[in-house]
Amino acid sequence: MRIPLIAGNWKMNLTRAECVDLAKAVADGVGNATNYEAAVFPPSLYVDAVAGVLKGSKVAWGTQNMVAEGPGAFTGEICAPMLLDLGCTYVILGHSERRTLYGETDEIVNKKTKAALAAGLKPIVCVGELLAERQSGKTDEIIRKQFSGSLAGLSEAEFGKVVIAYEPVWAIGTGLTATPQQAEEVHAGLRKLIAERYNDTLSQTTRILYGGSVKPSNAAELLSQPNVDGALVGGASLKAADFLGIAAGVK
Ligand code: PEP
Repeated sequence: MRIPLIAGNWKMNLTRAECVDLAKAVADGVGNATNYEAAVFPPSLYVDAVAGVLKGSKVAWGTQNMVAEGPGAFTGEICAPMLLDLGCTYVILGHSERRTLYGETDEIVNKKTKAALAAGLKPIVCVGELLAERQSGKTDEIIRKQFSGSLAGLSEAEFGKVVIAYEPVWAIGTGLTATPQQAEEVHAGLRKLIAERYNDTLSQTTRILYGGSVKPSNAAELLSQPNVDGALVGGASLKAADFLGIAAGVK
């Protein structure tokens, strides 16, 4: 059985105090929920403060990125041992903003994924097509390429710790959402790729999140799709009520 994961990517938003307040409100709202897991991803500088609030709660935390290297002479970067030091469970890797704004390739995402797994972190690896790629019928090809490249060379045991997030780039921060059918189709395709490379068991146990303008009003329908195992939420995760409203969409 796949426990849905509702993950909030706070991106480069909020002050330290606002992060602490939001984390408190999320932890209070999640309470002892057992039908889903929640995780938040504050700006790296504020993860420690948020961890202080979330310790002992049902809400996990992580960072929005890390490098594969280090520790060492990598000015300005953060690495897996630092995340562990802060009690992180998860790390988001290969988010489309990292890919498009900072030139992250599948190869880089793959290195990071391996480093995260080697350290005992659970990577949430993002894949997703651009609008032009969807419009020209290339969605399957792009997803297959990102899956093969970003998740190359993982053992079955390693892959078992990976969460995949399907985030169509055209739906991130735009207010446009994939229809539940569009999301379901890509998620089912990803599950097939896992079965082809590994086996049915791994395919059936891997969590595949949907991300792209998820909000309380569309969450329930997206989350009710058989192959959608949670949501990676950007904008709507900045308000506790909206994040919790999305979580309430988990049946
Ligand atoms: C995201 O950045 O991962 C995301 C899905 O953003 P939004 O929910 O704002 O579209």
